[in-house]
Amino acid sequence: MNVKFIANSIGEIVMEGLKNIRSKRVPLTATTLANYLKDDEDFNKIFSNIGDPQSMNELRFFVLDKILFFQSIIPNQELNSLKSEIEKDEHNLNLKGHIISLISIIAEYLDKAINIQSRLKNIIDEIVLRFDKTSSKLTNILDENSKVLKHDIEEDKLLIDQLGDVNSKVINESSLEKLKQVVLSKIDDLSKEINKKIDNKTVVLDHLEKEKEVVNKELTEYRTKEAELERLKKDVERYKMESVTDPLTSLFNRKFMAKKIMEEIERCKRYGSTFSLIFLDIDDFKKINDVYGHIIGDFVLKYLSDIIKSELRKADYAFRYGGEEMVILLAETGIENAIKFSERLLETIRNTVFKYKSESLKITVSMGVSEFNPAETMENLINRADMAMLRAKREGKNRIVSG
Ligand code: GH3
Ligand code: MG
Ligand code: MG
Repeated sequence: MNVKFIANSIGEIVMEGLKNIRSKRVPLTATTLANYLKDDEDFNKIFSNIGDPQSMNELRFFVLDKILFFQSIIPNQELNSLKSEIEKDEHNLNLKGHIISLISIIAEYLDKAINIQSRLKNIIDEIVLRFDKTSSKLTNILDENSKVLKHDIEEDKLLIDQLGDVNSKVINESSLEKLKQVVLSKIDDLSKEINKKIDNKTVVLDHLEKEKEVVNKELTEYRTKEAELERLKKDVERYKMESVTDPLTSLFNRKFMAKKIMEEIERCKRYGSTFSLIFLDIDDFKKINDVYGHIIGDFVLKYLSDIIKSELRKADYAFRYGGEEMVILLAETGIENAIKFSERLLETIRNTVFKYKSESLKITVSMGVSEFNPAETMENLINRADMAMLRAKREGKNRIVSG
């Protein structure tokens, strides 16, 4: 059976499964999707139809290839374990189970990625909406305040006019008794006016107090939103970091490598600077796994990565290229200094004792070193460093070859 055809059919079944899980409003996790696939008749039929070991093997290699691809995108330790398990399962006894695991891991990761983005969008929308509401309330309060002030000024002007009226009356009246009456009635009018003003102001003040309370409440809510946003920002940061980091070694992953090398190439073209790449491969790593087991193999990978990181300057980067292969980018470094750096690193690795519980072991590595040539592509540069590393292997390993 054609592997591409099988992959397509599996893809369709998975899409159907995802729709089914969504429609049931069950959370999408590795387990929910795995359970769906395990019970799906069409999915099971595909495997009972394959039968012959040749096709199963083709499918196995196809799956391993896909894992390699997803390892460079998805920061998930489970992918590494899955790969080792498939490699161990030479007779493809559990290939179906492994495919289910792979699909579930990928789906869960994608769901997480989509979820975090939609959370971010929702919270931003909500904040913008709230901000609009609060700011229009504040504008209203200011408007109202200025209206009240204007009105107040008008009223005061009126009162002053009335006082002026009293003045003219005082001058014109000859009889003291009349004058007294005029003054008293004016005082009465004025006191009525002032009381009215106070009453009006109290109503407006009450209203403003209420509005102030609402705005204050909204501002407090803002602050809680701010905390939520802060948390989300951290989630996004972590997610961003995870998406460029290899989970086992904490080195940057292959996807990020391509980005960084391209940036460095751009910089070289713009400023006429240079940089070098080192392609590093552990010698006889298979033997280490065979003799000491995968857990110690993993430990060696982690520890070696820490050594590499500790030797780097700030502008340099180390990436996990694949399995036990690493790429180091030395910024602003020509071939001579790159070789010096590699020699120092080779010496440090050679002299390090890797201690894990009761086991102690030493390892060596082979390195290919290449300086960037402005006329070449990124792929070409990586290929040259890889070829140089392979020459170091052919020449007896535990050495550096530049080329
Ligand atoms: P050479 O000196 O020619 O490089 O020999 P080698 O044994 O290192 O080369 P090979 O590439 O054939 O084997 C690499 C091994 O690395 C095979 C694979 O099982 C192992 N490996 C790849 N990734 C991991 C991992 O994440 N953990 C562990 N423990 N082993 C891994
Ligand atoms: Mg290798
Ligand atoms: Mg190797």
